[in-house]
Order: sequence, then structure tokens, then C-alpha cells
Amino acid sequence: MNRPFPEPDADAAPDANLRAAEVRRAAGAEALAADAVARIVEVIGRGERFLVTSHCRPDGDAVGSMLAVGMLLEQLGKHADLVTADRVPLVYRGLPHASSIRAAMRVHGPYDAAILLECDGLERARLKGLEDLFLINIDHHLSGRDFGHINWIDHQAASVGEMVNRLRKAAGGALTREMAVCLYTTLLTDTGGFCYGSTNASTFALAHELALAGADPVRIAQDIYFSTTAAKILLLGAALSTLKREGRLAWLWITHQDMVRTCATEEDCEGIVNYAVCITGVEAAVFLRELPERRVRLSLRSKGRINVAAIAERLGGGGHENAAGCTVEGPLTRALDEILAELRPVVGDFAASPR
Ligand code: 5GP
Ligand code: MN
Repeated sequence: MNRPFPEPDADAAPDANLRAAEVRRAAGAEALAADAVARIVEVIGRGERFLVTSHCRPDGDAVGSMLAVGMLLEQLGKHADLVTADRVPLVYRGLPHASSIRAAMRVHGPYDAAILLECDGLERARLKGLEDLFLINIDHHLSGRDFGHINWIDHQAASVGEMVNRLRKAAGGALTREMAVCLYTTLLTDTGGFCYGSTNASTFALAHELALAGADPVRIAQDIYFSTTAAKILLLGAALSTLKREGRLAWLWITHQDMVRTCATEEDCEGIVNYAVCITGVEAAVFLRELPERRVRLSLRSKGRINVAAIAERLGGGGHENAAGCTVEGPLTRALDEILAELRPVVGDFAASPR
């Protein structure tokens, strides 16, 4: 009999069995994904009105994916409302149709389904009224949960935008220039400028497809990375003056007072953690931001195989293997002790394990 996937072979080398298990796992995941995509296309085909949303404090993947799904639905003759709990960050407001995303705390309306993009839990959308809707969950976070009626979670996808492009193809949508710009933005930002572990040959294949469709890589990169406010640079100065290093770990922070003094906004904190993780020999880094009401936001980054999503999840947050976050109790010194206590053993274990 012809078996579709390799079975374990008692006589085979352990490596061969590991590879066979990996092939079976990948084939199983692909079958599940294909089924989810087909069901999503079917729900879209049957419906007329859709809500499209993402996580609060939307990032490039959230905004770009939402806009692309909005354009796809419009192409298919559907009505789409694009809503997030927080406003689109300034840096993404130049994206095509970015002004069609509305900020709200609650959604209502006769929707055939809500499409949640890049949301690793229903509560991350921070939108009241979602729980009453038919939920389509499209995500790529390690901390992703099956909270929807249809769940398509692909940990291998470099951005949710990559998944949206697959959905577009399955739904028979055209890749317009405007859509390509939005999808390229998701790819660029979620791979940290093609640097994070999720970047591989297929990432560049998609970037190629999007550039051919009219996304201008230089223009998009400059709009995102060379459009910094002066407040952000002042804030960065404050953060860098706190930088500490302990072997493979590095950390830096800003106080609420720093935010007030530099007139910085929450968006200006984006990327500061990278100045700690980019140090040679540093394997994991954390950026701490003091919030009002004695809470502290943590941004975690790592290189290689250190899984910061697992640490963030233990502290009530989530994210990806190399980029994650959470909010913990303050004050700042307590939060720092807490996260260092989590990170030190992990970084130590990592150092001891063969690479
Ligand atoms: P950042 O450090 O840029 O705020 O977040 C990095 C990654 O971690 C993003 O993918 C983001 O969605 C995720 N993340 C950050 N904060 C939280 C949180 O509080 N909860 C969850 N579930 N994910 C988070
Ligand atoms: Mn993402």
C-alpha cells in the first residue's frame, strides 16, 4: 500500500525517524490549514457584512493585514467594517485606506462574521460585542488560542499578512498594488526588517511577489524606519542611559516621568528593546516601561532558540519565540527583578545546551 506520509521505522537511524515525524507533522498542519482556508472562503462567500479587527495597540502586521482583508472583501463585493480598540499608529497612517480603520471600544451590527487577525486571544482585541459574533481567527503567534469558530493558526507564517495573501489566492482575489503595499508592510515589520527567526526563503518569495505587484521596498522601509519623531529620539536617549548588561542578558527602561518630559507617546517606545538585543553576545533583552498606576509593560526579544513567548505567557502576556510582551505589577524595580529571575535560568540553560 502506498502510504501518504512516512511511518516510523524501527531500524532507521534516530535522525531519520525524527525527520519522518517532522514531515508527518508538517503534512498534518498543512491539511488543517487547507481545511480552515476553505471554510473561511466559504463563510465569506455566503455572507455580506464582515467586521475586521486585530489586537489593541495595532502594529504593522495588524494594520496591514486588516487593510488587505478589507480590500479583498471589497473586491468580492462584500461590506467590511475595520475596527480596532486603539488608533492606527502615526507611522502606518500613510498606508492605502488607513483612514478606513475606526477606533472603538464596542462593536455592534448585523455581521455575518468577525475576522480577527493576529489576535492571540479574544480579549486581546479589547472590543466589547465580539463574543456574540461568528469568529474567524487567523493568527501566527506561538501563544495563539483556538477561541474562534474557525481557527487558522500558522506558527510558520512570518506575518499574518502572509496568511492573508494565501486567503486572497484561495478566494480568487487580485493582488492590487495597494494590497501589495499593505502586505509588504506586514512582512517587513513582523520580521524586524527581515531579521527575525521567522525569515526564510519563502519570506523573500512573497516579498518578490509583492514587489512585482507594485510594493516599493525602499519607499515602504523609509516610511517606517526613517520617519521618526524627535520625541522618540529623546526618549531613546533616556532609555539608553539606563542600559545594563549581564553576560547574555541586557535590559533598559524608561519611567513615566521620561515619557512626560520628552512628550513621547506609546508608539515612540516601539523598537527601543532592539538596542539592547542587538549587542554582540547578548541573547535576550527586555525593555521596561513604567505605566501610570504602578503597572509595567515589558517588551522581550531574543536571538536564536530562546523562547521569550513562553516567559511572557507565564507572566500573562504572549507573542513569538523571538519577540513577546506582557504587563506586570510595578514598581519598576520589582518588575525588573521578576523578569530577570525568569530570564537568567533560561539564558543559562541555553548557554549549556549544544547549538
Ligand atoms: P512588543 O514588544 O512589540 O509590544 O510585542 C512583541 C510581540 O509580543 C507582539 O507580537 C505582540 O503581539 C506580543 N505581545 C506584546 N504584549 C503582549 C501582551 O500583553 N499579551 C499578548 N498575548 N501578547 C503580547
Ligand atoms: Mn504578526
